[in-house]
Amino acid sequence: MNFKTLRDFDFNGKKVLLRIDLNVPVQDGIVAETTRIDRVKPTIDYLIQHGAKIVIISHFGRPKGEVKPEFSLKFLTPVLEKQWGYSVGFGEDSTKEITLLENLRFDPGEEKNDLAFAKKLAAHGDIFINDAFSMSHRAHASTEAITHLLPCGAGLLMEAELKALHIALDHPEKPIIAIVGGSKISTKLSVLHNLVKRVNYLALGGGMANTFLLATGHEIGTSMCETDMVEEAKKIMATAKESNCEIILPIDCAVVEKLEPGTSSDIVDLNNFPNNKSAVDIGPKSIDAVCKILESCKTVLWNGPFGVFEIKPFDNGTNKVAQKVSDLTKSKKLVSIAGGGDTVSALDNAGVVEDFSYISTAGGAFLEWLEGKELPGVAALKNSASRAA
Ligand code: ADP
Ligand code: MG
Repeated sequence: MNFKTLRDFDFNGKKVLLRIDLNVPVQDGIVAETTRIDRVKPTIDYLIQHGAKIVIISHFGRPKGEVKPEFSLKFLTPVLEKQWGYSVGFGEDSTKEITLLENLRFDPGEEKNDLAFAKKLAAHGDIFINDAFSMSHRAHASTEAITHLLPCGAGLLMEAELKALHIALDHPEKPIIAIVGGSKISTKLSVLHNLVKRVNYLALGGGMANTFLLATGHEIGTSMCETDMVEEAKKIMATAKESNCEIILPIDCAVVEKLEPGTSSDIVDLNNFPNNKSAVDIGPKSIDAVCKILESCKTVLWNGPFGVFEIKPFDNGTNKVAQKVSDLTKSKKLVSIAGGGDTVSALDNAGVVEDFSYISTAGGAFLEWLEGKELPGVAALKNSASRAA
């Protein structure tokens, strides 16, 4: 790979500015799942063992360039200490061997890829290491601009993710099914244009499916969807048709009047959708349809849960399909690759994480990688290496 890695640097006595992705799933103020934290531990260990001091930078949620205390990263310091086994200080005044700085997105310069903001960040380190593969589809100050200011390289997780995805997917066996669900509709839609050209089936779930259902003229009551994305969804369906990609939409759903734990739900057919209810999961007929197609496939790529898996029993659709993927993978009939912050959480909840062929920490970046696009964060590391050469 044409970028520098940890092995290319002498870290002794150096301060390393380390970009990681701490955008972890949180429920009621508690970290629900620590995969993203645990998967950067090898990089942390390597840097500490090689005599570096580490200054960690990350975003968390969408504070949109404003200081919003509910998005502070401070609550994560004890979690990092526990998962990594080092003491971690918080904020610019910390003198610990590992320091966590405040949420990057409190500054509007971060998402604007602003050089002045990158300069402020660069002041905290001698070397920049990017170990946030899951953010490499964004050219932000902490993934792009910063690479013009410090010597830079990829962390061990970034390296491992890219290698694993290449091995698994450089020559994927067909038929390929992509499963795309979850809630980040508009950000993921743009990826689907290219994805439908590369896969044989696209199964949709979550808010994503709802937007397509609306585009096909279905009633979806009060379900989560993005009405201004309906035209986009129609275009994707047209591209899919031209490319012989079959889009699989739910045919039945679990619906609720109000989404809260312990709420009662019904299963309804999509041609009979009550106007005062929301779809929160796919129903049994839809589950069967996806499982049947999975049996005929050789590769599955999965980002985004089928339903609101955080609230039981609306994890049912995701769990059943995950179990099917797990069984087929174990019997060597299917190569299964999944990625995404919440997707990892949902598969963990389904108890199948160990059974998949590969699980990436990245969702959006994973989808864009699948499209065959050069990721800006990775390109920035490559460009920096070629400038230095
Ligand atoms: P990832 O982080 O894996 O990329 P997303 O962030 O796009 O996935 O989506 C995950 C979120 O989508 C979960 O919090 C889940 O509750 C939500 N979700 C899934 N289905 C629905 C639905 N039908 N209505 C509302 N939210 C949904
Ligand atoms: Mg998410």
